[in-house]
Amino acid sequence: MKRLADKVTLITGAGRGIGAAIAFAFAREGAAVVLAELDFETAQQTAEQIKTQTGARVLAVQTDVTQSASVQHAVSEAEQAFGAVDVLVNNAGINVFCDPLTMTDDDWRRCFAVDLDGVWNGCRAVLPGMVERGAGSIVNIASTHAFKIIPGCFPYPVAKHGVIGLTRALGIEYAPRNVRVNAIAPGYIETQLTHDWWNEQADPAAAKQATLALQPMKRIGRPEEVAMTAVFLASDEAPFINATCITVDGGRSAVYHD
Ligand code: NDP
Repeated sequence: MKRLADKVTLITGAGRGIGAAIAFAFAREGAAVVLAELDFETAQQTAEQIKTQTGARVLAVQTDVTQSASVQHAVSEAEQAFGAVDVLVNNAGINVFCDPLTMTDDDWRRCFAVDLDGVWNGCRAVLPGMVERGAGSIVNIASTHAFKIIPGCFPYPVAKHGVIGLTRALGIEYAPRNVRVNAIAPGYIETQLTHDWWNEQADPAAAKQATLALQPMKRIGRPEEVAMTAVFLASDEAPFINATCITVDGGRSAVYHD
């Protein structure tokens, strides 16, 4: 028996990176997956690969998580195609790394629009159905920035702290209705986002080496390693895990001094 057999799962930002790895992992475990992604072309390509490699039921829907109507539309499309949404993975996120006092209002707003409003828009779109059915699981992709601060990365950690707050608040609010809300805090994971950040540094190769040197395991994580945790949290193997966050960072956030 597959671990997520027939669970209808909507994953935001699933065209690439961690979201795509989650979509693959869920499909392999028997879920029907909906890729709710800003870049429709990428989503379609990933959906095709998932279909070919796993035989799962897959749908790509152009979605902007900053717009609640767009997320509602994605949920409606998912329901029409596969039935009620059992699992939501709020994965879409962007890096906005600024110096607080020179940051523009626009930087602040676009960070919160995607990284926090986007998560709420997803929750709000699926919660009424989950609450009514008395079943559901939401997994929010936070970050180790949700409880650790690196100077110069403002306001991303502020939004990610909010994701943990939202996870705990909604997890408690809807626990009596058997809806679980949890988060995952990945450390450095090798995706486009990480490569973009290295490439923005004066010496990208040196920046990458410096990142690797900081890791207790001397490597950064793989998207699949976050996906495995999302499968666990969404599955019936975690029925009493609620309103909490699992860190997937190879131990990095436990280190006091470098
Ligand atoms: P990527 O940038 O590789 O992928 C993010 C995906 O989200 C992209 O496909 C992007 O589409 C999509 N997206 C962006 N904005 C929106 C939007 N408004 N609506 C819908 N989709 C959108 O990121 P990662 O896979 O690295 O990150 C995924 C999540 O994991 C994020 O929440 C991130 O903060 C978190 N995370 C990542 C870490 C890492 O080291 N990689 C570490 C800790 C947390 P498009 O290509 O069109 O922009």
